[in-house]
Amino acid sequence: MGAYNACAGLPPVLIPLNIRAETPVTYHAPLADMSFALKYGTSLLPALEEGLLGDLTMDDVEAVLAEAGRMAAEVIAPLDRVGDRVGATIKDGVVTTAPGWKEAYDAWRKGGWNGLASPAEWGGQGLPQIVNAACTEMWNGASMAFGVGPLLTMGAVDALNVHGSDALKRSYLEKLVTGEWMGTMHLTEPQAGSDVGALRTRAERAGDGTYRIIGQKIFITYGEHDLTDNIIHFVLARLPDAPPGTRGISLFLVPKFLLNANGSLGARNDLRAHSIEHKLGIHGSPTCTMVFGDHGGAIGFLIGEENAGMACMFTMMNRARLAVGLQGVGVAERATQQAIAYARERKQGRTPGMAAKESAPIIAHPDVKRMLITMRALTQAARSIGYATALALDRAERGADKTARETGHARASLLTPLAKAFSTDIGIEVASLGVQVHGGMGFIEETGAAQLYRDARIAAIYEGTNGIQAIDLITRKLPLDGGAAVETYLAELRSIVDAVNATNDPALGWSGLRLEEALDSLTRATRWMLAHLEKDINQALAGATPYLRLFSIAAGGCLLAQQALAALRLNTDTGSRVVLARFFAENIVVHAPALERAIVEGSGGVLAADAALAD
Ligand SMILES: Cc1cc2nc3c(=O)[nH]c(=O)nc-3n(C[C@H](O)[C@H](O)[C@H](O)COP(=O)(O)OP(=O)(O)OC[C@H]3O[C@@H](n4cnc5c(N)ncnc54)[C@H](O)[C@@H]3O)c2cc1C
Repeated sequence: MGAYNACAGLPPVLIPLNIRAETPVTYHAPLADMSFALKYGTSLLPALEEGLLGDLTMDDVEAVLAEAGRMAAEVIAPLDRVGDRVGATIKDGVVTTAPGWKEAYDAWRKGGWNGLASPAEWGGQGLPQIVNAACTEMWNGASMAFGVGPLLTMGAVDALNVHGSDALKRSYLEKLVTGEWMGTMHLTEPQAGSDVGALRTRAERAGDGTYRIIGQKIFITYGEHDLTDNIIHFVLARLPDAPPGTRGISLFLVPKFLLNANGSLGARNDLRAHSIEHKLGIHGSPTCTMVFGDHGGAIGFLIGEENAGMACMFTMMNRARLAVGLQGVGVAERATQQAIAYARERKQGRTPGMAAKESAPIIAHPDVKRMLITMRALTQAARSIGYATALALDRAERGADKTARETGHARASLLTPLAKAFSTDIGIEVASLGVQVHGGMGFIEETGAAQLYRDARIAAIYEGTNGIQAIDLITRKLPLDGGAAVETYLAELRSIVDAVNATNDPALGWSGLRLEEALDSLTRATRWMLAHLEKDINQALAGATPYLRLFSIAAGGCLLAQQALAALRLNTDTGSRVVLARFFAENIVVHAPALERAIVEGSGGVLAADAALAD
C-alpha cells in the first residue's frame, strides 16, 4: 500500500504509508534569503549589469530558483525520511535504492536540473555556476543523501569536458550531462584516504589504446545503484612504470556497461560492488566497496595524460568541494527551519511577568532565541561564502579577458576551502543546535532533527577532510600570486567595514568595531602564517584550522554586513537582515581575536601535545 505525493506536472512518487505517517515535509526553499544573499552578499547584481552572465537577468535567476525550490520541497524532501529509514540495500551485487527514489531521480533529471550549468553543446542549459550553487543547496537541503549523487556526476562532467578526448566526450558526455547516466569518483582505498598518493589500484596498458584496471576502492558514493542504467566511474589508478606518489596517478573512465559501436549498452565491464557500508547518516546513498578485475581487468579509458590524473581529478574535486560545502548550508537551513517551527509549538515554562497558569512557547526564552538566531546567522553567512565562491568560478570561466579570468580563478581557489570546511562545520553545529532546541525529542528519531545531525557529519570528512582544507588554505592558497590574492580580498572586506562605520547606524550596534577587530586579527594572522610557512611550517600547520575559522567568520561577518547595508539603503527587509548581521558581528565575529591568539600563541602548545598524549 502506498500514498501518492501528487505534484503538478511531475510523475507521482510512491511513499510507503507507514513511513509517511511520521514524515511531515519539513523543508521549504528559503528563496528570499537566497535571493538576498545572491544580490547583495555576492555582488551578483553588478555581475549581471556588466554582462558577465550574458543576457541573464535577476528575474530569470529567481524564476529558476523558484522552480528548483518546488522540485526540492515537493519531490525530493518527502523521500528523505524513507531514504534514511529503509536506506539502500545490496543483494548479489545489485544495489536497490529506497522506495520512490528512482521515480524522484527520474523526475529531477527530466526537469533538466543535472545539466543546469553544463555546456549547451552537450545538452546542458549553460547557466552560471552561481545559479547551480543555489540549486545544489536546495537539493541537499531537501535530502543530502539524494544530493550527493548528482554533485559527483556534475564534477565528472567537468573533468570529462575539460580533460577528455573528443571521442570520450562524444560517447559519454551528453548522457552524463542529462543525468541519464550517473558519474562516480574513485579515489579512496584502505591505505589511501587523505593520502591519495598511496593508492595501489593498477592500470595496465592493453596495447589497443585502452587500459585494464585491477584493484579495490572503498567508500564509493553511488558506486552501484538502480537510479540509472549505466554508471560511469572515474577511477584513479597507477601504471606499472609510474613514479611514486601523486605524480604517478592517472585518471580513467571505467563504465559499468561498455558501449556498442552505435552507443547502445554492451557487455558488462569487469567491476562490481562487493558490499555497501552501514553508516551514521545519509543512509539513502549507497557507499560501496568496489572491486575491479575479477576476470583480468576492467576496461578503462584514459582521461588526459598518463600520470597527470591528479590535475584532472582536481577539476572534479574543486567543484565537488564547493558543492559539499553547499550540502552543509542545505542541511543547516533545514535544521533551522525545523527548529524554529518546533520552538513556536512547544510550550514550557514562563517568561518573566507571565501569568502563573500560562506557559510560553520555548521560542520566547532568550536562550532558545540565541540558539535559533545562531543557527540562522551561521547558515546565512556560510551561504554567502558559498555563493561568492560560485560567482568567482563564473568569473574564472566567463571573465572578459585573461586577467579577469585569472583573478576569478585566484578568488575561487582562495575561497573554496572556506566554502567547503566552514559550511560543513557549521552544518554540524547548526544541526546539533537543532537537536538541542528539540530537547529530548531531538534525540528521538521521530522528529527528524537527529537525522539531520547524523547526515551533516559526513560532509566535514569527505571531499578532503576539513583539516586537509585548512592545510590547503594556508599552504597553497595564501601564497597564491605571492600573497596578492589574499591581500586583495582583505582589502575588499576592509571596504565593507569602512562602509559599515560610515553609516553610523545605531541598528548595527557594535558591528563596525567588531568587524574591524576581526579584520585586524585576520590580517595579522595571515602575515604570521605566510612568515611561518617559510620559517617553521609545523607552527603554521598547527594553526591551520583556527585560521580557517577566523578567515570564515571575518568574511561571513562582512558579507552579512554588506547585506544589512543594502537592506538599510533600500529600506527593505531591514529587520531580519540588520538584526542577523549585527548578531553575527557581536556574538560570532567577536571570537576573532581569540582565534588569532590560538594561532599565534597557541600553536606552540599544539606542537608540545605529545607529552600530554602519552599513555
Ligand atoms: C559516506 C562516505 C562517502 C564517501 N564517498 C567517497 C567517494 O565517492 N569517493 C572516494 O574516493 N572516497 C569517498 N569517501 C572517502 C573519503 O573521501 C575519505 O574518508 C576521506 O578523504 C578521509 O580519508 P580517510 O577516511 O582515510 O581518513 P584519514 O586520511 O585516515 O584521516 C583521518 C584523520 O587524520 C587527518 N589527517 C590525515 N592526513 C593528514 C595530514 N597529512 N595532515 C593533517 N591531518 C591529516 C584527517 O584530517 C582526519 O581527521 C567517502 C567516505 C564516506 C564515509
